[in-house]
Amino acid sequence: MSELFLRQQFPIFYQQNDGSPWLYFDNGATTQKPQSVIDTISCFYSKQNANVHRASHRVSADTTNAFEQVRKEVAALINASSEKEIIWTKGTTESINLLASVLAKGHVESGDEIVLSALEHHANIVPWQQIANELGLRIKVIPVNKDGVLQVANIKSLITNKTALVAVSHVSNALGNINPISHIIAHAKKHGALTLIDGAQAIAHLPVDVQALDCDFYVFSGHKMFGPTGIGVLYGRQVLLDGLPPYQSGGEMIEKVSFSGTTFQGLPFKFEAGTPNIAGVLGLGAAVSFLKAHQSSIHEQEQALYTALVTGLRSISGIRLWGDLENSVCVQSFTVDGINNQDLGLLLNEHNIAVRVGHHCAMPLMEALSIVGTVRVSLSGYNTLPEIHHFIDVLQGIVSSLRPETINASQDLASA
Ligand code: PMP
Repeated sequence: MSELFLRQQFPIFYQQNDGSPWLYFDNGATTQKPQSVIDTISCFYSKQNANVHRASHRVSADTTNAFEQVRKEVAALINASSEKEIIWTKGTTESINLLASVLAKGHVESGDEIVLSALEHHANIVPWQQIANELGLRIKVIPVNKDGVLQVANIKSLITNKTALVAVSHVSNALGNINPISHIIAHAKKHGALTLIDGAQAIAHLPVDVQALDCDFYVFSGHKMFGPTGIGVLYGRQVLLDGLPPYQSGGEMIEKVSFSGTTFQGLPFKFEAGTPNIAGVLGLGAAVSFLKAHQSSIHEQEQALYTALVTGLRSISGIRLWGDLENSVCVQSFTVDGINNQDLGLLLNEHNIAVRVGHHCAMPLMEALSIVGTVRVSLSGYNTLPEIHHFIDVLQGIVSSLRPETINASQDLASA
């Protein structure tokens, strides 16, 4: 199949205003949307708009059916044992905040420990820090080596009977490493700790089977897997979710309300107060269909792109590649000796190449690596080999033109 087949389904690549080619290498931040996702959202608002779970009228019933069908499709995508285990949220950040907030209501207590990893996104650090400060919990951190690879040999001393929760990412957003989560989960289980996997950067690139992983919670965002923004997923084991209190309260999540008291709905509605993001859920459904239909070609293309990217980057002198290159999705972070990351990002932008530069919402990781940031290239199956070759040529030209001796070394500090 032509490598343009996938790309052709993404209208944004054919609608650049000035007609110049645009290399979108910032897929870790958000992916582009295929026509099917755009059409589904547009069709909902133009033909099917009604609220869900409320009215007996036909349009609402049809919308409710379509909406609940997506829950089943998401459950199937990650092999959850029931669609009741799929809770809609705004995204990964809200999924983690939801969990932190409900666990804080009586499920963790002073002296308990939470184990995170050094390469977590701030979204999987700050909510835990907040409840740790509030409740007197202790946070422990699985370290990384000098390249940014998790050092799991240490987990025996980190995960103990005091551990209430282990929360780690499936794939590092800053470096692209695939983390040894099965090993970590197995160890956490031995000590009776809950496990949360942040799958924000994995879901578009790797098959996810929550039952095989044996994790308790798995979270991700729709917009990083070809779906719309504002919709995300919290997967949780049914028996655990059943035992947790509601997150927010109001309409939709109740069974019966009177001034003498309120009873709540069962799963999944107990955690979904108020009108949900209906268009977002339907758009996510189209994204799931797209991902399932093209999973193997996306995977094949991403592997070819990553190999070409790493080969090209290695050919540039003075470049430092970060992360675990043998065990990575198609994301590569790099720095160039003596050249400021921000300068690289700006100059690449002048060539219509979109990369991400900075700490990637992983400041503790940057601190552990003693750097202020990196340049991150994050690819998707709709990128092409000619794009990679063009990028390497441009980068090579930029690096040769920026002679290290003309670079003010203080710039790095200024932009930190
Ligand atoms: N975790 C990881 C690993 C991420 O990459 C991101 C997004 N960059 C998040 C959490 C937060 O996702 P969102 O902003 O969609 O809530």
